[in-house]
Amino acid sequence: MTEPLDPTAVLADFIDRVAHFDPAPDAAPVAVLGVRTALGEGTFAVGDHVVRAMCRALASYRDPADHGTCSQCGSRRLDENLHCRECGQLHGILGEVIARHALRVAQEATVADPTATDPGKAAAMDAQTVDASTVDASTVGEPRP
Ligand SMILES: [Zn+2]
Repeated sequence: MTEPLDPTAVLADFIDRVAHFDPAPDAAPVAVLGVRTALGEGTFAVGDHVVRAMCRALASYRDPADHGTCSQCGSRRLDENLHCRECGQLHGILGEVIARHALRVAQEATVADPTATDPGKAAAMDAQTVDASTVDASTVGEPRP
């Protein structure tokens, strides 16, 4: 459930907190900001200090669902486990560990039988690499028997 917010009250609070530190509090306002929502409305004449603070605050905002960009396909749809919902690439330390583990397994399989071309085994490895939801993170990176 999303917590209800009153944008007018939030803006008024922001201005109050920031304007307190304005080095030129007597300077004329440089902008008039207006907010109107179902909860209320407000009009605020603000100085350069507040406008700059607001711009910096907005520019530095990061959505809680923003987990970065996929290095493989460029999608911004990474879930909280850094798993790309578009191409399946797994990012972060866990993704790197899984990728190295999959590479090591593939190399060992090739060394054991260089002529082996089992499509079922290759498909299973692809599924392990792509679908992180089936990977038991507690066993990843542990030495193999
Ligand atoms: Zn991707």
